[in-house]
Amino acid sequence: MQAMSKNLFDLSGKVALITGGNSGIGLGFAEGVAKQGADVCIWGRNTEKNAAVVEQLREFGTRVHAVECDVSIEAEVDRSFAQTLEIFGRVDSCFANSGVAKSGRFEEFSTEDWRHVMDVNLDGLFYTFRCAAGHMKQRAEAGDPGGRLIGTSSLGALMGMARVEAYAASKGAVISMMQALAVEYARYGVTANSILPGHIETAMTEDNYANEKFANAILPRIPLRRWGDRSDFEGIAVYLMSEASRYHTGDSLLIDGGFFLY
Ligand code: NAP
Repeated sequence: MQAMSKNLFDLSGKVALITGGNSGIGLGFAEGVAKQGADVCIWGRNTEKNAAVVEQLREFGTRVHAVECDVSIEAEVDRSFAQTLEIFGRVDSCFANSGVAKSGRFEEFSTEDWRHVMDVNLDGLFYTFRCAAGHMKQRAEAGDPGGRLIGTSSLGALMGMARVEAYAASKGAVISMMQALAVEYARYGVTANSILPGHIETAMTEDNYANEKFANAILPRIPLRRWGDRSDFEGIAVYLMSEASRYHTGDSLLIDGGFFLY
């Protein structure tokens, strides 16, 4: 039996790669793990947002860099992963979190929008995890096992939400992918889990929550009585990156203030 260390949540010396880390939930992940001592590499397309968040995260005293990357472009992901390894030397946890949402009546939904959602939310995860899993396997074979793959899915993967079929399908696929990865990479000491955010106030959802009709319909159904915010994702990121979760794999963790239950 290998006993847990005294400080279960210490992430010093570990490196987190967080796609979509310059905003919202991804930024919450980044803030949580940086506070516990992790070095952080953010990927996102927007140079200004990347630069602002790097400044902000450096205040926690760890190494932080951003790489400009569109995760829907295979070659960019390969290049960005290589660049991340050049900067940090390793990736201990990979949070594939970049995502987009498009809504519209199903019979009018364009193929272009369908493809865009799949390109970012599904293909983007595939390209990202292919790099990360390969790297973690190589390390395990060289005597350095471990590694964490964390995919951002959604409550929308579980609930019937009208007019977001593409988004829901892409997020359901994330859960399936993480379960398969959990089994395939367990032999290398790598865990794989999905996080399913509920109704979280971020740039992606601000229009919905500003809509009184939407807020009146949804808020009373959240048992914890508020929208989630990015700080609600710090703890789960730390847990999944830490030694505390070393035997926890293939799971789908719902962070929704109890909405799904009620
Ligand atoms: P957000 O604040 O809009 O963040 C989205 C992030 O994804 C940004 O950092 C954005 O950065 C990045 N991104 C978008 N397209 C990208 C691309 N092609 N390549 C690389 N990065 C890209 O929204 P959020 O709510 O935090 O969303 C984060 C994740 O949580 C998404 O996967 C979303 O589906 C999921 N989620 C959110 C909620 C919610 O209620 N907010 C609920 C369930 C699931 P750039 O624009 O700089 O590229």
